Amino acid sequence: MTTSPARTVARITADLRPLLPLPPLNSLPAAKARGAECTWCTLRAAAQAYIAHPGPCPQCVYDLKPCPVMQALLTLLLELPR
Ligand SMILES: [Zn+2]
Repeated sequence: MTTSPARTVARITADLRPLLPLPPLNSLPAAKARGAECTWCTLRAAAQAYIAHPGPCPQCVYDLKPCPVMQALLTLLLELPR
């Protein structure tokens, strides 16, 4: 018997949830539509949220130090498998 390699589980905090919209249910593969696979954990969604975030965030626009949401998005991007 062989075992599959361990999968990395990315953390999506409550701050990140509104930045990672779910795709329409009828566009999802069956496994994602029934909840057997993660629907949010896509590199593309995290990258889009990371790129779009600084616009509406005053801290990220006027301060050199990223806000906690921006830091969490970067951590998520680094945790997601390529
Ligand atoms: Zn920010």
